[in-house]
Amino acid sequence: MAVRDTLEFLLHDWLRVAELASRPRFSDHSRETFDAVLDTCERIAREKFAPFNRLVDTEEPRFDGEKVIQPAATKAAWDAYAESGMLTAAQDHAMGGMQLPYVVESAANVFFAKASISIGGSILTVGNANLLMAHGTTLQKQVFAANEFNGRFSGTMCLSEPQAGSSLSDITTRAVPDGGDFSQDPLGPRYRLRGNKMWISAGEHELTENIIHLVLAKIPGPDGQLVPGVKGISLFIVPKKLVDTEGRLTGERNDVALAGLNHKLGWRGTTNTLLNFGEGKFPVRGQGGGLDGAGAGAIGYLVGQPGEGLRCMFHMMNEARIGIGMAATALGLAGYEAALDYARNRPQGRPVGPAGKDPSQPQVRIIEHADIKRMLLAQKAYSEGALALILYCARLVDEQHTGTPEAADEARLLLEVLTPIAKSWPSEFCLEANSLAIQVHGGYGYTRDFPVEQYWRDNRLNMIHEGTHGIQAADLLGRKVTMEGGRGLKLLAGRIDATIARALHQPGLAAHANALAQALQQVGATTKAAWASGDPRDALANAVPYMQAFGHLVLAWLWLDQLLAQPGHEGRQRATHYFFHYELPRIDAWLRVVASRDRTCADMPEDAF
Ligand SMILES: Cc1cc2nc3c(=O)[nH]c(=O)nc-3n(C[C@H](O)[C@H](O)[C@H](O)COP(=O)(O)OP(=O)(O)OC[C@H]3O[C@@H](n4cnc5c(N)ncnc54)[C@H](O)[C@@H]3O)c2cc1C
Repeated sequence: MAVRDTLEFLLHDWLRVAELASRPRFSDHSRETFDAVLDTCERIAREKFAPFNRLVDTEEPRFDGEKVIQPAATKAAWDAYAESGMLTAAQDHAMGGMQLPYVVESAANVFFAKASISIGGSILTVGNANLLMAHGTTLQKQVFAANEFNGRFSGTMCLSEPQAGSSLSDITTRAVPDGGDFSQDPLGPRYRLRGNKMWISAGEHELTENIIHLVLAKIPGPDGQLVPGVKGISLFIVPKKLVDTEGRLTGERNDVALAGLNHKLGWRGTTNTLLNFGEGKFPVRGQGGGLDGAGAGAIGYLVGQPGEGLRCMFHMMNEARIGIGMAATALGLAGYEAALDYARNRPQGRPVGPAGKDPSQPQVRIIEHADIKRMLLAQKAYSEGALALILYCARLVDEQHTGTPEAADEARLLLEVLTPIAKSWPSEFCLEANSLAIQVHGGYGYTRDFPVEQYWRDNRLNMIHEGTHGIQAADLLGRKVTMEGGRGLKLLAGRIDATIARALHQPGLAAHANALAQALQQVGATTKAAWASGDPRDALANAVPYMQAFGHLVLAWLWLDQLLAQPGHEGRQRATHYFFHYELPRIDAWLRVVASRDRTCADMPEDAF
């Protein structure tokens, strides 16, 4: 089934997104306008993204000492995306936006991500600008966010440092007030930043007039020491080139220098950088007037209040994480499509009949072998299932923003629980789908003559960034399922129960409904058992198997729920059967170690390795 057809089913038949048009925010929209957005994005992705996916992989970005060089197609893709209006799609009309529901925006972005995940760095720019819309001053929105939405500037998120990735409380980038009048700057309280930021995606390039870095840094206390923990972290806008209050470049280069490009396994169409802030490579406005007698320093404008940096950054976290899940999903879909095409055309082997094989018969196409069908069905179940998960969560984001107060609150809590799954489940299982796509291609899959090895390499990132797999799992079991007295988990259980109740009355679905009910009960009981000793060291020792089982429960639910929306659809029926017969039973093994608080891994002495 083509991705467009799957998207149409999910958006319209399953999630009924056209009903959103009855809400004031979306009143200019209808199914026709949603379809028009999908049409445009599908076309641009086909013309400007897909043909260059291999090129951006083989022609990795390089630095000539002055500039980063990338293929011309990268700039053409950025420009086409910006001109499509997708950077600003969800914004208010007053900001030049379309007030498009997030769920439709996410669906439209699948086309780009599937065509070439790394050629466009738009996800970061939109995230950066959205954050400024939520926490910036009016002028910060006009000068920085508006110019990101119109494509003049691009944005980054600078959290990680060489020594601080998962543990952001240990960042050491410092920000000190810039002169006696630091608080009077119209662009926001002005600071001087010094430190190193590692892994910064799209941190340097020539695609846009300017790059707006959003940087986490610590403001030293009166004793000159950095405040330990996340409470000391603040957020700053650090433009690569300084701008005036009209957003015009002043001609001054800020002190942000590229220390080097990282050479990555995949995702090579986007630069990845180590950035030095304030080391004096581009001294700006003479000596920095830092109160600690600082010399050079990159100029940065405070966003929100001091000490609130991580809170501001995490405000947009749900959407950022759903975006990563969407990227993983799109790569899973791309691999599935390639594997399906290959399997339909590759003749190899003969079927085994009751009397064995008949060598006088012509070979069959590999899609006729049961094992190839198994691998294709797994890819379909993983990637189309992940797509349903992502759009379900995106629809919850719209509910959170435009629903009644009760519905919005429910959506918020459901998102708390589902976001770690939306980020992690596709990152793990759509990566597995890409591995199976390589397997379907046999030896050819292992070469650059076919696209599937690149999909796998590109996808391998998703379990690492935006909170690693392990960190997501600890968040789910350590915080999300217990927060607010476990209300999020109860809400989710209520939705799963509703699907079970409907499926019990559908011919042929009662067995799945019962299996889902049992899985739900098992996950609930295991959550309690994991926390029975009250010691997080016991509970979290097996957080990843818990997250895997939880994700499989959610995916089984979503497959069954989709089937209820269109019971006779054979492809979905078969994928649902596959999921219930081959995948859901795996949760037994995952949950067993969690429920028994198995300490095999946790207690392994280091010198026994
Ligand atoms: C291609 C790429 C692009 C990126 N883009 C950006 C970007 O634009 N901006 C940005 O700020 N960052 C970015 N990152 C950084 C990314 O978010 C970090 O790599 C990630 O947070 C992990 O940090 P780390 O690499 O320091 O690994 P570490 O934090 O050292 O983790 C190493 C391993 O230890 C595990 N671990 C760590 N702490 C714990 C714990 N408490 N309990 C259990 N296990 C633990 C982790 O799960 C992981 O498996 C990017 C990274 C890459 C590779």
